[in-house]
Amino acid sequence: MDLDAVAALLADEPAYRRRQVWEWTARGAGSYAEMTNLPRGARNLLEDEIPFSTLVPAHEAHSKDGTVKVLFHTADEHPVEAVLMRYRDGRRSVCLSSQSGCPLTCTFCATGTMRFRRNLTAWEILDQALHFRRLEPIDHVVFMGMGEPMLNVDHVVAAARLLPDLGVTHRRTTISTVGWLPGLTRFVDEVEQPIRLALSLHAATDALRSELMPVNDRYPLEDVLAECRRYVQLRRRKVFVEYVMLAGVNDAPEHAAELAAVLDKASFKVNLIPYNPTGMYDGSSRDAIASFKHVLDRARLPSTVRLTRGRDIAAACGQLASA
Ligand code: SAH
Repeated sequence: MDLDAVAALLADEPAYRRRQVWEWTARGAGSYAEMTNLPRGARNLLEDEIPFSTLVPAHEAHSKDGTVKVLFHTADEHPVEAVLMRYRDGRRSVCLSSQSGCPLTCTFCATGTMRFRRNLTAWEILDQALHFRRLEPIDHVVFMGMGEPMLNVDHVVAAARLLPDLGVTHRRTTISTVGWLPGLTRFVDEVEQPIRLALSLHAATDALRSELMPVNDRYPLEDVLAECRRYVQLRRRKVFVEYVMLAGVNDAPEHAAELAAVLDKASFKVNLIPYNPTGMYDGSSRDAIASFKHVLDRARLPSTVRLTRGRDIAAACGQLASA
């Protein structure tokens, strides 16, 4: 819902109307009609003038593991995907897109192969989460869908700041970045809320990382890691490092040793991601992932292996793309 448009339309009403509309919406209301503490005239006016959501769901896919992927269209017809992940322990995590498409061209990620459209507004970002909030309570959000959040840092942070109203605390909100420095620096300097940071690293040397992620030519590894360490010092929270496991590319024990050498265990926690097929590479075997993790364990660098969700409906990491 475009709450700015709502406020403008209700400009003649008392200022608390905006808050009332938002409170209903954030708690999962499905229409203006449900907002019974608004005067009927205001409800009708809203109904006539402002779409309840900035996004229109176009397609929904259900995985056998409970994951749900939804394709939306913006009002100007751009595609956006978001994913709801349901875990056995009851956690409900929503993966949000920050852009329609992505201008970066990481070689392993399907989103980079579709045409980049534009940044999403804060309301378009929140409407993805609200769609799922209307189905059931949600408690975690990751900005790991389409797009590079730090290229759209203002709208991403504006959306993240409102997530507690939907039931998602800042500590359970994670923004993931390739290390786009201008946005990352602003995030570190300006965001005082304890929102978590994740860095898509995937290689511990500039040579290999540039091969996998062209953005590395622009913002080299050491500068990006230095910015992450600044986040750790200011926020007193570790940075998650995402590392997608590509067979024969970045998954040898030597790569693990290099990784352990560049990441200090006081600042970083590694999340090894099994590669989800996008046509470009082969995923590392279970054994290769285990051996890699063993090297990290021996170096006492904390690490986990990411649970793959929604692969059967192309809803897993790196698989979001739409013609
Ligand atoms: N642009 C941001 C936000 C997207 S997060 C970023 O890259 O951090 C999506 C995560 O999934 C990133 O860590 C990305 O590197 C990872 N990913 C991309 N393609 C993948 C694939 N095919 N298999 C597994 N993970 C992938």
